Amino acid sequence: MSNGMIIADRFTDQVALVTGAGSGIGLGISQRIAAESGTVIMADIDGAALDAARDTIGDVPGTLRQAVMDVTKEADARDLMENTVARHGKLDIVINCAGIVGPSAANIAEYDLSSFRKVLDVNLVGSFIVTKYAIKTMLRTGYGRILLMASISGKEGNPGMAGYSTSKAGVIGLTKAIGKEYANTQITINALAPAMIATPLAQSLDPDKLSFLTGKIPMGRLGTIDEVAAFACWIVSPEASFSTGAIFDLSGGRATY
Ligand code: NAD
Repeated sequence: MSNGMIIADRFTDQVALVTGAGSGIGLGISQRIAAESGTVIMADIDGAALDAARDTIGDVPGTLRQAVMDVTKEADARDLMENTVARHGKLDIVINCAGIVGPSAANIAEYDLSSFRKVLDVNLVGSFIVTKYAIKTMLRTGYGRILLMASISGKEGNPGMAGYSTSKAGVIGLTKAIGKEYANTQITINALAPAMIATPLAQSLDPDKLSFLTGKIPMGRLGTIDEVAAFACWIVSPEASFSTGAIFDLSGGRATY
């Protein structure tokens, strides 16, 4: 990742928890928050990926910690938040980047139920669980910034990806509902809705589907992890104080509403 535009002290004395931090967008956001002097708990189901991610980050002014956890397990989320508060005194930022694609070229007639349930469990139920305990933790201080990862597929629907598109539409509804629930606190809840971003998740797509989705982006290219991290870091900064329950587009011109 390039650190060209970092704001050196933006996250000084702030504590962030990032799920899915072992790869892709979660890794890029973790790196940027730590480069901007924050403490980041990097959480992922894949411990080996976390080790490798930590190695790629190198020296940063902030503090990085690792936590193996499964976003679909309520006890994992609850314990991680409690441990974070016990160790660091508070939790300011939670960013939900854990996610899976599931089938990417299966129309519903061929889409098996167990895959559908699995994609909803990780992407939507996992976001519910982590956000629920994030809110309970942040209410102790009355301040917080929560970011969820939706997708343009949740607004438009990507054919062949019923589970993924449904899960991301669910994340949009979740964000809009709970943003209003806590709008009279200093806790904001927002989501990003990116088009295709160049990450390992994108590489796992069916190749024809990847070129189809890239072709739908007017800028004619995939987004980069740096571009997502730059936007995400603004949304979770203290400066972003008048947006909640919002779905922010990041789509190279694909989103039209
Ligand atoms: P990625 O595959 O590179 O990283 C996802 C990480 O989530 C992995 O490290 C994986 O181990 C972790 N994970 C999976 N299941 C988990 C679980 N149950 N508990 C904890 N961690 C788990 O993916 P990415 O491209 O960085 O995507 C991050 C998020 O952004 C996802 O929610 C994805 O749907 C969303 N998104 C991605 C794109 C894209 O084009 N890459 C576009 C829109 C939205």
